[in-house]
Amino acid sequence: HGAVVSRSFGIPTVTGADQATSVVEAGSLCVVYADEGQIMGGVTAKEVKAAERLSQERESVRAVFAERAKEPGRVGEDHPLQILVNIESPRDLDLFSKEIVEGVGLFRTEFAYMERANFPTAQEQEELYKGISKHFGDASVVFRTLDVGNDKQLRYFQMPHENNPAMGWRGLRMSLQWQDILLMQIQALVKAREYGDVRMLLPMVTNVEEVRQVKRLIEQVAGRADALPLGAMIEVPSAAMALKDIMDEVDFLSVGTNDLAQYLFAVDRDNPWVADLYQPYHPAHLRVLRYIGNTCRMAGKPVSVCGEMSGQRAGALFLAGAGFDQLSLAPPFVPEIKAMLREVSIRELRVLARKAAACATNLEAFRLLEDAANVAWQSALRHSGKESGKT
Ligand code: PEP
Ligand code: MG
Repeated sequence: HGAVVSRSFGIPTVTGADQATSVVEAGSLCVVYADEGQIMGGVTAKEVKAAERLSQERESVRAVFAERAKEPGRVGEDHPLQILVNIESPRDLDLFSKEIVEGVGLFRTEFAYMERANFPTAQEQEELYKGISKHFGDASVVFRTLDVGNDKQLRYFQMPHENNPAMGWRGLRMSLQWQDILLMQIQALVKAREYGDVRMLLPMVTNVEEVRQVKRLIEQVAGRADALPLGAMIEVPSAAMALKDIMDEVDFLSVGTNDLAQYLFAVDRDNPWVADLYQPYHPAHLRVLRYIGNTCRMAGKPVSVCGEMSGQRAGALFLAGAGFDQLSLAPPFVPEIKAMLREVSIRELRVLARKAAACATNLEAFRLLEDAANVAWQSALRHSGKESGKT
């Protein structure tokens, strides 16, 4: 989760560098080439200068793309593809201009719970949701209900000891058993909806019965099950297989590739010992994603991806070609992803997505997508007048 947070702040980060603290002296100057997964300790003044130059170059490319990012997201000239952001706190609002996004695809509400000494009241939650929604005016804001458990713990709430917490009492499972918390969130969201396009998203949906249960709770609170536009996250393989049943019960879907990959490959996303098997670009994962994207597209059901793949160049190209109509990503990546998507056509991306999903290995699929992303990226740089290989 540290990686997710640093991406949203735009902080270059390398994870799994377990020797770093014994090799690099505390307080010494380092250069982090995060794209290459490199940390250089004991650097010379010349190396620092080179890194600074690269960083400035990058900033100037960003500034050019940021200006053009005010236009709505699209693939090529004429295929709309909404670009939304993932945020988790009012603090994030200072990090980017709201003009460059078409709404919030994922507001992780758990951070409002994690940063405090006790549960926020309904009133406090209502104020928070209202404030965020007002900031974005008419644009929609998707609030995900509490997704704690596993790596996200609350200091003031004792979770049971579990041998396998990633598969345990977390997300919606906890909310449905501890319904007071969920009822309070529903109440706050229903009230906040009076001030903007507030929507509710359920994390860790495992089956359609859970979604139906939530709809009964919304009805209990608001008198109508449709008082809040409701979405389900698809991040557990069973939910992907039950897609059509779940789709019939909700207004929109959002795919959490961070967890979907974890559960599909049975690989803990936080465990460096098995990190090499965590392969979001493996064709097995790409096939599931393509099934979800194309099924929703054919049914006319809005579907986004809010996992980290959306903010990666290769990932964004694949997802656009796989039928998704919205991508929700960390704010710093919005301008470059928008710029890159304008350089390609939806027809070529559909072919690319089909080819990538038909590969046999992670490496083959990733190379194919990376090559296409590099071509599109270079073309975006050319159009911006900023040609440089290493940005
Ligand atoms: C995901 O699982 O892809 C996701 C967006 O949610 P989180 O990273 O908060 O689990
Ligand atoms: Mg998740």
